[in-house]
Amino acid sequence: MHPWVFEGVIEKIEGQLNDGDLVRVIKAEDRSFIAYGFFNSKSQIRVRLVSWTEEDSISEAWAVGRVLSALQWRMSTLGLKTNDSFRVFSSEADGLSGLTIDKFGPYLSVIVSARAILPWLESIVKMLQDSVLKPTAIRIRSDSVRAKQDGFELEDRWIGVEPQDHFVIEQGGTRYAVDLRKGQKTGFYLDQRLNRPAVAQYSRGKDVLDLFCYSGGFALEARRAGAVSTLGIDSSADALLLAKKNQELNALDQMEWQEGDAFEHLKGASKNYGMIVLDPPRFAPGRKDFEAALRKYFSLNEAAVKRIESDGILVTHSCSSAVTLADLMEVIAGVSRRSRRAAQVLEVRGAAPDHPVLLSCPETAYLKEVIVRWA
Ligand code: SAH
Repeated sequence: MHPWVFEGVIEKIEGQLNDGDLVRVIKAEDRSFIAYGFFNSKSQIRVRLVSWTEEDSISEAWAVGRVLSALQWRMSTLGLKTNDSFRVFSSEADGLSGLTIDKFGPYLSVIVSARAILPWLESIVKMLQDSVLKPTAIRIRSDSVRAKQDGFELEDRWIGVEPQDHFVIEQGGTRYAVDLRKGQKTGFYLDQRLNRPAVAQYSRGKDVLDLFCYSGGFALEARRAGAVSTLGIDSSADALLLAKKNQELNALDQMEWQEGDAFEHLKGASKNYGMIVLDPPRFAPGRKDFEAALRKYFSLNEAAVKRIESDGILVTHSCSSAVTLADLMEVIAGVSRRSRRAAQVLEVRGAAPDHPVLLSCPETAYLKEVIVRWA
C-alpha cells in the first residue's frame, strides 16, 4: 500500500494530535487496522505510513533497525563494501519516508525531508557512527524545499572531521572528486553509477556530447571506454570545475567542458555526434507540471536527435516521478515520427539497485534511462 495519506481521504481525526505524533490509521467502516504512520497538519502528506503490521511497536529502536537492515542487505545482496560509495537508505523505498542516507567514500550524508524523522535522528546517526562503515564524518541537513512543506527546520551540520576541500572516490576504476562542503547541494549522483559504464560501452569510436554533465560522469566513462572525444555542457561553473578535476584525476585527454544552457547549445550547434547523453534535472517536480514537462522533454530530445549521426546513439533520461517510462517512450516515439528516423531501443535502465523501486510507491521509480539507436 502507498505510504502517503493525503488530507482528502481522511474522514475523521480522533483525539488531539500534534505534528509528528504516531497515529493508528483505521478503516472508517469497521475500524479495522490499516497501518501506523506519522501525522503532520502542515504537510500535504497528512500521514506518512511506516508499518502495515499491527504487532509492530514503532519506536526509536525500530527505526534504527530499519536503517541497519537497509545497510546490511546492500552489503550482502549487492556486495557493496565499506569503502564503496552508494545510497545506504532510500526513504520510502526502504520503508521510512523522509530519510535519505548517501555514502561517499568515508563520508556519510544524511538528508531529512520529513519532520517525523527528527526524534530518531540522533540514534540513527549514532548507529551509523558505530556501524561497520566507520565514517570519518557525517553531514546532517534537511532537504530545504521539503522541510518547508513539512514545516520544520534543521541546521546543516557535520559530526566528526568534515572535509576541508573536495575528496576523491572511486567507482569501477574511475576516480571522481566529490565536494560535500556546506552549500554544495549534491556531491555526486550515485543513482547513475552503473548507467555510466553501461552507456560507455556504446561510445567506442564516437564523438560524445554529454549534456547536463554535472561532474562529467558519462563523458569520463565514455572516454575511458574508447570514445574519440567528449564535450560536456552544464550551466553550473562549480560542476565543471569538478569535471575538469575528474579529467585530470583519470589522466584523460580529448575532453572539453563548456558552461552554458543545454537547450541553447543544441539550438546553436552545427556539429553532429555519434552519441548524445541527456540527463536534465527534474522537469516535473509535481503532477501539475506534467504537461509542461512532457513538452520540454519532447523539444530537448527532438533537438538532440537533429544532432545525432546516422547509426548514432541517444541516451535519454527523466528523473521526474510524474513522468513514467511509458511517457518517456512516447516522447521518443514522437521524435522518431517527426524526424522520420527509425528509433531502436537498445536498453532500458533505471537507478542502481541501492535506489530500489518500491512497487507500492511508484514515485520511487523516478529515474528512467533509455538507450536508443537512430537510423
Ligand atoms: N549527468 C550528471 C548528473 C546531471 S544532474 C552525472 O552523471 O553526474 C543535472 C545537471 O543539469 C546539474 O549539474 C545542473 O547544473 C544542470 N543543469 C540544469 N539546467 C541546465 C541547463 N538548462 N543547461 C545545462 N545544464 C543544466
